[in-house]
Amino acid sequence: LELLAATDSAIAIALQKELLRQRQHLELIASENFASPAVMAAQGSVLTNKYAEGLPGKRYYGGCEFIDEVEQLAIDRAKALFGAAHANVQPHSGAQANFAVFLTLLQPGDTIMGMDLSHGGHLTHGSPVNVSGKWFKVVQYGVDPQTEQLNFESIRTLALEHKPKLIICGYSAYPRTIDFEKFRAIADEVGAYLMADIAHIAGLVAAGLHPNPVPLCDVVTTTTHKTLRGPRGGLILTRDPDLGKKLDKSVFPGSQGGPLEHVIAAKAVAFGEALQDSFKDYSASVIANAQAMAAQLQKRGFKIVSGGTDNHLLLVDLRSIGMTGKKADQLLSQVNITANKNTVPFDPESPFVTSGLRLGSPALTTRGMRTAEFTEIADIIADCLLNPDDEAQLDQCRTRVAALCNRFPLYSHLPQLEPA
Ligand code: PLP
Repeated sequence: LELLAATDSAIAIALQKELLRQRQHLELIASENFASPAVMAAQGSVLTNKYAEGLPGKRYYGGCEFIDEVEQLAIDRAKALFGAAHANVQPHSGAQANFAVFLTLLQPGDTIMGMDLSHGGHLTHGSPVNVSGKWFKVVQYGVDPQTEQLNFESIRTLALEHKPKLIICGYSAYPRTIDFEKFRAIADEVGAYLMADIAHIAGLVAAGLHPNPVPLCDVVTTTTHKTLRGPRGGLILTRDPDLGKKLDKSVFPGSQGGPLEHVIAAKAVAFGEALQDSFKDYSASVIANAQAMAAQLQKRGFKIVSGGTDNHLLLVDLRSIGMTGKKADQLLSQVNITANKNTVPFDPESPFVTSGLRLGSPALTTRGMRTAEFTEIADIIADCLLNPDDEAQLDQCRTRVAALCNRFPLYSHLPQLEPA
């Protein structure tokens, strides 16, 4: 940081402010986490200087012998972590990983089936604004209006009617365990490929706390930066080595150029961390903490979509307190809590306003917080949202947030230079 400050003070100051923000706010965005110092060290390394088109042992550039060691370690660790026969660690992001799968399995005009964005699906699962919605015919399934959970009868009926070539499961805002066996049975019945996008739950799968889709799905994609706690990036896994070779070609040269080997090194470090027993303990706490937060919010009168959570996230239906997601998001920012507004299933509001709030436990669990702290966080959220016009109450909320942040320091190894 001192080096950076000496050469580019504008960027150094912005970084300092961001470090301070991360330290002083309660981070509840379900898709975020705090990567370890080792992951960050690998990412900020000399590997950023190297071109390495191709794969380990088969490169289009010289000087790749050490890069090969790094990427092979990342591949081997990813395979071990998820029990996959093949792994491609090069996708720059989750969206890139999904695109490479589409390029491998589909032709423009084919039919795909994924979950509606407003029910918890991801943009890349068929949204009209994404290439997946522009190039393919899209059939979207949602959750059941009563249970707010997957309804396999209606998913099966839709699949039988539309005969998709690809069924996508795995979501951005779904708080319940996914039954991959039921999806497999439906895919087999209609002759579809089955892809699981486990971007959100990858860490829980790696820890053995959520069923693993790799043995059941044709292909599994993920990001590496959410519950898996690595650098920002993507990963593709498959149980089928032949399909794996095709997927490799769709990543490079199909849709990317040179891999980001510094990021791949950081992925390898994160996979190594996730292989440790301590990661299982961490992931168990992630789930226990989300459940503690959900239970306390329910006690305080908030409706939780689907009645609770099995994983790292929960969706609060704010219609239970007559507030929009947009307003709640703004109020929480005022007391230094970072979360995001989110549609709830069958949301009457627009995606810019929404009726929901998505809360996740991965980042603050990394800071060391446990169920007692998550219960206190739920109470702070309730006190804030139930008293939106009470300045004294909001002041108290800010003080309680600061107390938690001070008790659980973040990145103690990094100096905090005073922002100018
Ligand atoms: N898939 C799912 C289920 C996600 O939730 C996300 C990100 O939020 C992605 C894919 C896309 O990942 P990225 O932002 O790395 O492209």
